[in-house]
Amino acid sequence: MSEQNYNPYKNAQAQFDKVAEMLDLEAGTRELLRQPMQEAHFTIPVKMDDGSTKVFNAYRIKHNDSRGPAKGGIRFHPNETVDTVRALSMWMTWKCAVVDIPLGGGKGGVICDPRTLSKGEQERLCRGYVRRIHAQLGPNLDVAAPDVMTNSQHMLWMLDEYETIAGGRYPGMITGKPVGMGGSLGRTEATGYGVIYCLQECLNKLNMDIKNTTVSMQGFGNVAEYAARMYIELGGKLVAISRTDRTTGTTCTIKRESGCDVDELKQLKTADGGIDREKAKELGYEILPGDAWISQDVDILIPAALENQITPEVLPMISSKVKVICEAANGPTTPDCDDLIRERNIFLIPDFLCNAGGVTCSYFEQVQCNTNYFWDKDEVLSKLEHNMKNAFQSVYELAQEENLSMRDAAYVIAIKRVVNAVELRGWV
Ligand code: NAD
Repeated sequence: MSEQNYNPYKNAQAQFDKVAEMLDLEAGTRELLRQPMQEAHFTIPVKMDDGSTKVFNAYRIKHNDSRGPAKGGIRFHPNETVDTVRALSMWMTWKCAVVDIPLGGGKGGVICDPRTLSKGEQERLCRGYVRRIHAQLGPNLDVAAPDVMTNSQHMLWMLDEYETIAGGRYPGMITGKPVGMGGSLGRTEATGYGVIYCLQECLNKLNMDIKNTTVSMQGFGNVAEYAARMYIELGGKLVAISRTDRTTGTTCTIKRESGCDVDELKQLKTADGGIDREKAKELGYEILPGDAWISQDVDILIPAALENQITPEVLPMISSKVKVICEAANGPTTPDCDDLIRERNIFLIPDFLCNAGGVTCSYFEQVQCNTNYFWDKDEVLSKLEHNMKNAFQSVYELAQEENLSMRDAAYVIAIKRVVNAVELRGWV
């Protein structure tokens, strides 16, 4: 793979440049949209439990807020880089635009490993993050959310610090809060369910009955679990799923030709994060190498773990039976695969459409917080289904009309909406 594939910011810019060229955008518009409009790089000093002070490097990047306040998670990761945060903030702009929610794109990150920090140290880090940039955050400015290795508790500490500084209650300044403390019902399921709402629409277009389809999936985290649950509920057969085994630090694919059961898969996890192989065998599951998920004879592949998993090198391993790839993860396919996938006549649902259920539900959370009126779960999920299926339909129609790939069509719709906003505002 080329170096470009490893730099998410370069990837994000290359994807934008391609569509900017197709749309013949003005030079000034291109320059505005191919980079973030605002970047905060800052340090957070944290008093550690042993009395020492540790300084963490952090970022909050706003790619574009022409369609509404910036929206995006805050990641805690030891290998966080500014280019990852830049790319993710840009993808958030397109993601919000493609599902037509009135938000822009942002992202944050702290270079740290929360697994090595005590609860108190994590709380001081979260509060420190907000203290350093509170003036740039807020329900009308920039709305943060959980992301890699951050959770609802981190969000609540950040909210509390913000409200202490601002002197009031502003629950819409952050999403992903616990239910009962401003969180929305349905958020846990939203991304995985959104993937399957898109898949349902896609199968309709391909005249395939979900009940006669099979899936192989990578990952068994939040997104994968709820996508798997809904897919099985609708009658599909999940044949294989790959996941990590923390005891060995490896990955394995768990397969059962007659179909996997999500609750059984959950029970296979041992207390130390490993896989109970004996129990798996008793239940009729085979344990295969970690990368075996990609070479299964199934109709649908759902990468729901990491970026850069489908590369030109592994593409030949994909069975000729595969008709659909649902990009549940962010960036699971390297850009140099797109044309090859299309040549193979595989229908690809691009990540920023496929996994937009999460941000759509976060938007619903913000709306509920701002109005101080909370919806029941059915209402949240029916609105989510409506939004996701509408978004899929618009992208599909454009792809058909203009003979574009689904990814290019999604980019065209998203970028046009943002270009329209910056033009109407008179920014370009
Ligand atoms: P998660 O941390 O809950 O789960 C990730 C899963 O992937 C874990 O089960 C992990 O064991 C597994 N995994 C990691 N490396 C693997 C490998 N090499 N092979 C097989 N499995 C592996 O994360 P998540 O929230 O489910 O997110 C998954 C993907 O979806 C990420 O790309 C994330 O950015 C994207 N995403 C998540 C959301 C959301 O709402 N959670 C929204 C949009 C996009």
